[in-house]
Amino acid sequence: MPRPVWMWTLPLWLAVTALGAWGLVSGQRAALRAAFDLDARVLHRVLSQRMEQQETVLHAVSALLTQDLPAGTLRGSVQTLIRPYRQIVAVESCAAAGCQLVAPGRAALPLLPFSPSPGPSVHWPAGSGARYALSLGRARVWVNAGALLPARDLPEEPLTVQLFRPDGGALVLGQAAPVRHAAWAFSVDKRLGTALEPFPVRFERAYAWTVWPWGELLAWVAVTALLAWGLARALIVRARSERTLLDERRRAQGIVQASTDGIVVLDAGGVVVQANPAARRILDGLQVGQAIGSAAQFQATLSQAPFDAAGFWQARAAVALPDGTALQRGAQRVLVEGGLTPLTGEGGHLLGRVLTLREVGPLQQRMLAQLDAGERRVREHEATLTHVSRLSTLGEMSAGLAHELNQPLTAIVSYGQASLRLLNQAEPDLTRARQAVQGMVTQAQRSAEIIARLRTLVRRAPAQRVKVDLVQAARNILTLCQADLTRLDVQVDAPLPTAAFVTGDPVQVEQILLNLVRNALEAMAGVPRRHLSLRVRSAETSWALTVQDSGAGLTGAALANLFQPFQTSKREGLGLGLSLSQTLAQGMGGDLSGENAVAGGARFTLTLPQWTGDPDS
Ligand code: ADP
Repeated sequence: MPRPVWMWTLPLWLAVTALGAWGLVSGQRAALRAAFDLDARVLHRVLSQRMEQQETVLHAVSALLTQDLPAGTLRGSVQTLIRPYRQIVAVESCAAAGCQLVAPGRAALPLLPFSPSPGPSVHWPAGSGARYALSLGRARVWVNAGALLPARDLPEEPLTVQLFRPDGGALVLGQAAPVRHAAWAFSVDKRLGTALEPFPVRFERAYAWTVWPWGELLAWVAVTALLAWGLARALIVRARSERTLLDERRRAQGIVQASTDGIVVLDAGGVVVQANPAARRILDGLQVGQAIGSAAQFQATLSQAPFDAAGFWQARAAVALPDGTALQRGAQRVLVEGGLTPLTGEGGHLLGRVLTLREVGPLQQRMLAQLDAGERRVREHEATLTHVSRLSTLGEMSAGLAHELNQPLTAIVSYGQASLRLLNQAEPDLTRARQAVQGMVTQAQRSAEIIARLRTLVRRAPAQRVKVDLVQAARNILTLCQADLTRLDVQVDAPLPTAAFVTGDPVQVEQILLNLVRNALEAMAGVPRRHLSLRVRSAETSWALTVQDSGAGLTGAALANLFQPFQTSKREGLGLGLSLSQTLAQGMGGDLSGENAVAGGARFTLTLPQWTGDPDS
């Protein structure tokens, strides 16, 4: 057991025990002293009364002697008078010639010459032992002081009573057994309370050590020892748990300090409470007491992993820094990884957060760069797919070409005819003829442009008839468009079933879906609330997939010629996406329809025949 606890619990225990023991012993002493004082008072009172009785007898005998009664009568009266008082041993009638016994003496009387005195007087002749005489006039009453206190008058608890004669000698009236090595000895000196016999009297009583309250003392020592032991134990246990806690804290501190990862402890308000050396190195200039927001300014380097500062710093659950998060350190841009973990208290309240940071090594930096390149490739693939999706069937292209080229060709013919007409005139108007020829050139160039543009689109793969999972196709397209969905902050609602198997061409199905999703994204670009909903449901023999957006919806003009080629409301649009998609859908035995949703926005529904297991059905 550690010394410090005992160093003060032991003296405390001793002090408390001693104080209590002193209280118990002194209480006992006071009680015994009080009992002794009472006994002494009672005995003093008894002795004083006895003296008064003797004096009363003396006065009565003196009065009887003056009456000259016959000897027999006198004796009888005196005997009656003294009978109750065992200490009166004889009564004498004295005259100048000497004294005569009136009442028979109970023992031989000491020799005492008569000397008449007017008032009462006491005579204690030398060598008379316990006996002394009281005389008044002719009367003389002998008292045996030794009989003043018969044993029955002594208290139960014996005490020593000493009566002092006028010559200083002492008579023992009551005797207590002697006590060796007394624990306490009480004594009190008094004088008997009569005018005639005011003898000094001493009462004494001694107590042996056995009267101490040993039982209570032992019990008290045991109780206090038990309490002291309990207190010491509690203190030791507390000290031990405090030490364990401190060790734990030191260990945790050591781990934090030794960690090569940056560790920053924040309070609930985002202020730095503690930061290890690695954290100070990564976040150059980080100070305790500083708001973390100003020290750790994270930036995103990958477009598909934007850094949402508010969401990150306020997170109520552990969050990781997105891939490609960077920190600006002076002129240097450092890639970091790590996360933020909330620290919660007993009741679940937020105590603070722990930010862990690690500089991303060169290998990881290269991997991130490759990831970025990969993402770029995905985007290029998406662009290509978009482009490919603009593929037309030959018929579609012919129709498109005819439609597109018809207008410039008609214009060229008109301009040519006008030029001929002008040049055939007697005085040809060369200026106007030149303008007409210029018009022809312009229209011819436009035709060439149209042809060139369309040529790049023409590439057609033969359609397949295989088992296609419409749900998987929808998931693929959402993944493909993820970057744009995130960039535009589109809320996607796609509670899709596990699978929906249709018969079709997997590439064409994805082309149609990509067209629909891209149109939806373009339609939502200018609206504040962007919501894209995808649903797949089964009809009798087909599966239907609906793409609904929260854009402005289809205009009247767009609705009227929705699936006509070259119908576009966009500056850069070709107006081929929907017509091509419908042609592809119909080619796979399904259809594509479009309408405005009641809640606003456009809704397109692609239906495709359910997979029956027979590709030719
Ligand atoms: P493009 O996208 O090149 O214009 P499309 O055939 O895909 O060609 O679309 C034709 C036209 O239909 C668009 O120009 C647009 O006016 C309208 N349209 C298509 N999808 C939507 C949509 N989701 N919301 C509103 N209008 C749409």
